[in-house]
Amino acid sequence: MFGRGRGKLAVSLVCADWRLHHKRVDLNKRLSRLLDVDGIDVIAVPGPDGLTRPERASEWKSAADQISLLISVHKPVKLTVVAHQRCAGHPVDDSQHKVDVMTAAKALKEATKFPGPVVAAVATYRSDAKWGLEKIGEV
Ligand SMILES: [Zn+2]
Repeated sequence: MFGRGRGKLAVSLVCADWRLHHKRVDLNKRLSRLLDVDGIDVIAVPGPDGLTRPERASEWKSAADQISLLISVHKPVKLTVVAHQRCAGHPVDDSQHKVDVMTAAKALKEATKFPGPVVAAVATYRSDAKWGLEKIGEV
């Protein structure tokens, strides 16, 4: 992909939690596989699936603005919102993460007017350095 055009990109809104970004997790590569793209732009905030709550409106707006900028300059083919279990930034139970990440994916598609798919996913906890990655749906 390098040197001969950069391939397909996606933009990911993920949690800032260090455990997801540990080199052993290699979330970027796994997201690339899940989304069938060659690279991922990352916006990291605490508890991304909680951003649509009214009290986080200003955080939501800045994340959506940053993603809109990346959409215009990098022309991604997909967006994704990645929640995770045991999230301190959005401390809800596992089933609520699935609901909230879909809500956030829909809201992101609306806010950015992105024409392509927005994928909702949840990183499932096995240990601090070991996570599953479950696709919940796409809008
Ligand atoms: Zn988190």
